[in-house]
Amino acid sequence: MTQRFVKGHIAFRNRAGTEQEYLQRLAIDGQQPMALYIGCSDSRVIPELLTGASAGELFVVRNVANYVPALANADCSVGAAIDYAVGVLGVQDVIVCGHTGCGGIRAALEGVEALAPQQSSLRQWVQNLVPTAENARARGFAGEALAQRTTEENVLDSLDNLTSYESVAARLGEGSLGLHAWVYSLENLRLRVFHADHGVWADAEAVL
Ligand SMILES: [Zn+2]
Repeated sequence: MTQRFVKGHIAFRNRAGTEQEYLQRLAIDGQQPMALYIGCSDSRVIPELLTGASAGELFVVRNVANYVPALANADCSVGAAIDYAVGVLGVQDVIVCGHTGCGGIRAALEGVEALAPQQSSLRQWVQNLVPTAENARARGFAGEALAQRTTEENVLDSLDNLTSYESVAARLGEGSLGLHAWVYSLENLRLRVFHADHGVWADAEAVL
């Protein structure tokens, strides 16, 4: 099964051109990514593909349902990536990107009891999302609107939790870090962004 990917790698390596030269140049110059991108592990939501970013431009963290726990409840792997990107590499922006049809969000809405007991790590992780899901349900949302609302609120909660990290708080205090909430729609390939000033989600093109 993985032979396909090994062959793909060989084809990638054998491609001559400016892209290969650019990638090799990065080994010498080091990385200076512009943004920290926190997204879902979902195989259909590929950060570089949907943003047009090149190697070296996005520092990426992906986990189930693009969740950032607050520092008090920190997952060390997520926290380490945040500290490194924000505190050491000095990215200018942090993007948290959710997406439609997210299995993690669906699991939170169905309740962790629906997950097999052997999936203890998944159950524990998804439990983080349950309060957001229950909150949306308590406000009367149902069906697709409930999933959409939970997806959006989960992104906003994660951005809010980001501010509990000292490295992020320090940069926000300097006014040198931007925080961005996105939701990508698998169905129509559209990106929606949150406008904090007005408290609304809108099509990404509207801000250009
Ligand atoms: Zn997902």
